[in-house]
Amino acid sequence: MDFERIPRTTRFLDPRQNYSETSIESEIRRDPLTKLSGRIAHFAGAQFPELDLEELSRLSLSHGPCPFCPELVEKVTPKFPTAIHWEGRFHRGEAIVFPNLSPYDTHSAVTAMTTAHLAPVRALTPERLQNAFGVSVEYFRAVQRAEHHMGYGLISWNYMPMAGASLLHPHLQIYATDHPGNFLGAEIHAGKAYRQRTGRLFWEDLVAEEKQRGERYLGTMGQTIWLVPFVPQSFIGDVQAVFPDRFSILDLTEDDIAQFCQGLTAIFRFMENRHIYSFNVGFFPGQGPEDATWVHARVSFRGMFNPLLRSADVSAIRQLYDEPFTTIKPEELAHELRPHFH
Ligand SMILES: [Zn+2]
Repeated sequence: MDFERIPRTTRFLDPRQNYSETSIESEIRRDPLTKLSGRIAHFAGAQFPELDLEELSRLSLSHGPCPFCPELVEKVTPKFPTAIHWEGRFHRGEAIVFPNLSPYDTHSAVTAMTTAHLAPVRALTPERLQNAFGVSVEYFRAVQRAEHHMGYGLISWNYMPMAGASLLHPHLQIYATDHPGNFLGAEIHAGKAYRQRTGRLFWEDLVAEEKQRGERYLGTMGQTIWLVPFVPQSFIGDVQAVFPDRFSILDLTEDDIAQFCQGLTAIFRFMENRHIYSFNVGFFPGQGPEDATWVHARVSFRGMFNPLLRSADVSAIRQLYDEPFTTIKPEELAHELRPHFH
């Protein structure tokens, strides 16, 4: 398996060292599956000051009540047609699933995860998480039953405004689609080509290789394998869960989801230590074994380049050149995360 690294050295006369010549290292990497590139650069590092979440919560309610809070959620959110749910909405514990008023595709829903409006990671208990992800999979089962076809069941989470959430109240965006998007589409395309070329599954080989190398492997919870991807999408780095032998979102069992939530809890402890407040989660499933892709999920940390100015962490290199760059070496991130997985 090819983990391609292209090292770069930049030389300049450094004003911080009386204009003596300095060299700075950076690296271009290629994903072993898709060959999509990313940069590891700017090691000077990002700043992560403490954030007042209570203040953010007050601000979020200053122009009116929140539609996902318990007083309103059953009054202002849409209901599913009876073919999807006989009562109109799915419930499990505090979690509730309803149609998305602004759909991404024919079958598009939102899972409000908690009754609490503000849920810092400490409040996102394994039980709350499991109910939210579990009931989301239940929604996909209902779509499959109603339509006899579901496509790709995508679960995504924009946790906190820095990750793109327009409401502070924790919620998942879930939708079924025949169009998996560019990134997952590229993975599936490359996964099929890999199987055709080698007769093997890329994801099985990846897990074996990462375990053997040990640099980015974090640990295994039940059957679920955790690692740090070779090419992250985030400037702070990504964490990945791989679900062996699961090919579609409908293959995920309650145990798989419980293990995923246990891993998330480990990641939350790391976030608290580092003052990281925000992330995106995306699930990457195939439609079935024909897509040659084990279901995997990425947690991608989010923040601000300059918190003082609220600078977004997506600039031209990411937005227009579609090139991720990361300020922490994935191997160093794995080293920091690993104790939380044991
Ligand atoms: Zn709310």
